[in-house]
Amino acid sequence: MVRPALALLFLLAACSTSPLTGRSQYLIVSDNMAVTQSAAAYSQMMGEFGKKKQIETGTPRAEKVREITDRLIAQAVRFRPDSANWAWEVQVINDPKTVNAFCMAGGKMAIYTGMWERLKATDDEIAQVMGHEIAHALADHTRERMSIAMTSAVATTTAAIALGSRDSGPGTGLALTGMQLASVLAIQLPNSREGESEADQIGIELAARAGYDPKAAVTLWEKMAKESGGKQPAEFFSTHPSPQNRAARLAELGTKVQPYYLAAKQNPVEAPRFLGAKADQKERSEYAAKLANEPDTLTFLAEPFERFKSGKAVFQCRTECALRYGTRKTDWKRLHENKQWRELAVSVMQTEYLSDLSYFMLAEAARGMGLKDAAATYYKRAVEAGARYGCGADAGFDCEGFEVQKRAQAALKGQS
Ligand SMILES: [Zn+2]
Repeated sequence: MVRPALALLFLLAACSTSPLTGRSQYLIVSDNMAVTQSAAAYSQMMGEFGKKKQIETGTPRAEKVREITDRLIAQAVRFRPDSANWAWEVQVINDPKTVNAFCMAGGKMAIYTGMWERLKATDDEIAQVMGHEIAHALADHTRERMSIAMTSAVATTTAAIALGSRDSGPGTGLALTGMQLASVLAIQLPNSREGESEADQIGIELAARAGYDPKAAVTLWEKMAKESGGKQPAEFFSTHPSPQNRAARLAELGTKVQPYYLAAKQNPVEAPRFLGAKADQKERSEYAAKLANEPDTLTFLAEPFERFKSGKAVFQCRTECALRYGTRKTDWKRLHENKQWRELAVSVMQTEYLSDLSYFMLAEAARGMGLKDAAATYYKRAVEAGARYGCGADAGFDCEGFEVQKRAQAALKGQS
């Protein structure tokens, strides 16, 4: 039997906070594992569809899907730079009865021809579907569901895998390991309504920034809902349950991201291609790294991020935030090392813990992003906080190897 204290420790270790949403997630499958195992399962699945001549290539709509998806990925990597190294891939599955699409951890995607045959989806609507799917992968929802599948009995049994419509699903021919099975189950288990809301918000923004009409998000879900009222409900609906007032919320989000849409329409984004051969990997990574430190973020994170940029971030929390601080400050060291300034700022803002280390990290992030005034403000707050809330003085906490006071004071004197 596991002692309660140990069980709690295990739970804490398994809970991570999404850098994109700040929500605590149950993640026992590592990022690397999720990506490699999903890719292995995907290649088996596509092989199976290929044998049945169900992979559609070279048609205008298959080409269109590649173009749309590529433009969405170019936005996705802005907000999650590590995804520039994913081996993104999209396939069109010829299965006119199935209304579905998915994106596995690591960017392996597919869309079923039922989207056109049954829904008559427009390009803007396809962009919304794929944007929504990509958002699930970016926000680690896919990895979260892999983790759930791994810990529930379902992963250890050879569950029947229906990848397509009920009568034409392959799956019996697949020889999947437990982890690969979990990666397939991850795209078949329903998302939480909370996850749906997150994906709606991130997806509509990725699409707008890629130049696709946000209004299409509303029409898409309307079409889906109508289709689901019929004899054969859209498969998509069973894995993407509708959060409350989805249509109203999407309309509201659409208004918010409308300026991005108009801007992208006027000046189409110049970006490397992300689908296909990895020859231009360097170009992709450079593109992502350059954009990652622009002082621009998803509207999702806009409120705390704007406060950070304007130098107005003030922390007062010491008790309720202590646990969060304890688990997240190791991330800060890594983000600092990798110069992922925007993610660092977001993580500190989400933690809200009052300490000189928190302010120091905000200062470093602001400086990295060229926000001089904000940087000076936070270095000053770090020095002030040091008197009572120095990271070194906290019981059980340390400064992650940073000489916070020394460096903050030096920065203020302009010596560093
Ligand atoms: Zn969804």
